[in-house]
Amino acid sequence: MKYYSTRHMAPNASLQEAVIKGLAPDRGLYMPEKINRLPAEFFNEIGNLSLTDIAKIVAEKFFGDDMDKEKLNAIVSEALNFDIPLKKVEEEIYVLELFHGPTFAFKDVGARFMSRMLSHFVQEQHHENVKVLVATSGDTGSAVANGFLGVEGIQVFVLYPSGKVSEIQEAQFTTLGQNIVALEIAGTFDDCQALVKSAFVDEELNKKMYLTSANSINIARFLPQSIYYFYAYAQLAKQQLEDNVVVAVPSGNLGNLAAGLFAKKMGLPIKRFIAANNRNDVFFQYLSTGNYEPRTSIQTIANAMDVGAPSNFERILDLYNQSHEAIKQDISGNTYSDAEIKNTIRTVYEKTGYLLDPHGACAYQALKDGKKPDETGVFLATAHPAKFKETVEECIGSAIEIPDRLSAFMRRKKQSHLLSNDFNLFKKTLFNVS
Ligand SMILES: *Cc1c(COP(=O)(O)O)cnc(C)c1O
Repeated sequence: MKYYSTRHMAPNASLQEAVIKGLAPDRGLYMPEKINRLPAEFFNEIGNLSLTDIAKIVAEKFFGDDMDKEKLNAIVSEALNFDIPLKKVEEEIYVLELFHGPTFAFKDVGARFMSRMLSHFVQEQHHENVKVLVATSGDTGSAVANGFLGVEGIQVFVLYPSGKVSEIQEAQFTTLGQNIVALEIAGTFDDCQALVKSAFVDEELNKKMYLTSANSINIARFLPQSIYYFYAYAQLAKQQLEDNVVVAVPSGNLGNLAAGLFAKKMGLPIKRFIAANNRNDVFFQYLSTGNYEPRTSIQTIANAMDVGAPSNFERILDLYNQSHEAIKQDISGNTYSDAEIKNTIRTVYEKTGYLLDPHGACAYQALKDGKKPDETGVFLATAHPAKFKETVEECIGSAIEIPDRLSAFMRRKKQSHLLSNDFNLFKKTLFNVS
């Protein structure tokens, strides 16, 4: 299968090229030229299938032309080796918990999948000296670092602003060792991002090594996220609850939502989606007015959704042939302030005992406000509440437990290279640390 750029100014790419490059040369996002539908029999049977069974079938529809089936199955089994349970929160409202992976956030799914697929392609091509560069303000760095930990043939550099990420987040990417190098930059997140961008265009570096990124625009990180929408539906089908399903998605860069839309285009009978925004509501405004007006992000308590110019918006436009009308038929939205998010965390906990994190809380509330009486609602919980301990404890007025696997990171020894934001120093480090 070939992949085209959403900007249509770059040549079509093979899967290998799209995965190794990430962004298309015209700065567009890669899209598969065909979306394969799944047959009706699959959906009739889906309630009897396991997560791994479903993942193998869906992954084959995407990547089956370009990879050996056994290899692909091995990638799927390794990438999705944790539970994604669907739980009932209250009448007609279910939560799909996407946070049981190594860093307790949904990005683990895509990061693990991408690491295995990239490793496969660089080995197949005999590429040496492959380095993944990630600038992070917190969550992406930990998911990518843990996703690539121990993966053969690839070294990962995580650049983060010194003193500006939470203790838990920092521990998740500075204590790993092996092929993961943490670069603590005396500067801001923007400085980190600028260093990464400069590296990608530096001639000398690109002559001596393969540099790639691992952000959510990469097709190998983005597409596998479709899988758990099928699994959510399967768990509803098992209980004969599969009619009129509406799914609410906490949205930032819109990768998660766009993956759900892909699942629908493959035939998954989800009736419609609800996009939940915090105060960074560029997408909500687009739904309301038809105008897309990116702007600088503002800080909120659901900080993984603090995005002012969502990168996967281009993919959604492309999927719907740029039609605002068509997009509105499938997606509605809503937006919430920090005060509203906190109120949701508190009242849901008091009424049901279910503990939400700030991102999941946006999705819960958007579902509650947007679900019609004949619909079965599912919202995606994208992070474990313990990752936002202070906020959550303030909302519910009592202490919460930190899972052992999460606190274990905090007990390990931090290893990082402290650097200024000087590009030449960064470049030297890329050459010297191995
Ligand atoms: C990244 C992230 C999101 C936003 O997902 P997008 O695919 O960027 O829309 C939501 N919640 C959490 C916890 C995240 O880490």
